[in-house]
Amino acid sequence: CGIVGYVGPQSALTVVTAGLKRLEYRGYDSAGVAVLADGGLATAKRAGKLVNLEKELAERPLPSGTTGIGHTRWATHGGPTDANAHPHLDNAGRVAVVHNGIIENFAALREELAERGHALASETDTEVVAHLLAEEFSACADLAEAMRLVCRRLEGAFTLVAVHADEPDVVVGARRNSPLVVGVGDGEAFLASDVAAFIAHTRDAVELGQDQVVELRRDAVTVTDFDGGPADVREYHVDWDA
Ligand code: GLU
Repeated sequence: CGIVGYVGPQSALTVVTAGLKRLEYRGYDSAGVAVLADGGLATAKRAGKLVNLEKELAERPLPSGTTGIGHTRWATHGGPTDANAHPHLDNAGRVAVVHNGIIENFAALREELAERGHALASETDTEVVAHLLAEEFSACADLAEAMRLVCRRLEGAFTLVAVHADEPDVVVGARRNSPLVVGVGDGEAFLASDVAAFIAHTRDAVELGQDQVVELRRDAVTVTDFDGGPADVREYHVDWDA
């Protein structure tokens, strides 16, 4: 339902949880975050309101990191439980992904992954994406390229945002029939389903077009189509109060 991603010098957890709060008005049933820290990936997720996630983070604080993603979920596949809350991870716990929308061909992809030995931990349509990204990343070592390869296999409507512990300064997003906006700051960058999530930090926005992938680094925002070719985006300045 709501998605936030961040890479920059600030605490990713602080930026992401504040962004999720700005998106609360959209409604949701669960929330979660993932932060890249100490060479690994740390996550927290809880069914219910953001206050449940905040309580969990107070009891089990995450190591601090400057790259992270967050999600508020409106369940479509699998009930609103802790296990079904996003982010979803691969079996090695190196990739985290959050998703808005529906992956229509998830059942076939789940079956295929199970045959290759993946153990799926949730009932969501989303989790297949984490496993597929992990497989593609192990071959190309490039999260944006892995995302392009995976998106070409997906049917349905999706905004996807992912991080990989082996590319700790990168956040990757993708979209089809679901919104995704980039916020470009000075030495930092944001991704969100709605500009409201980041206008406290920057009002320079880039709206992704249909079937595009974005790679976010502190000083670079690179957008391509799903084949890796150049992509047309709309750059604009947010001059209203969200
Ligand atoms: N289909 C996904 C799920 O049920 C994402 C739902 C959403 O857009 O929040 O987990």
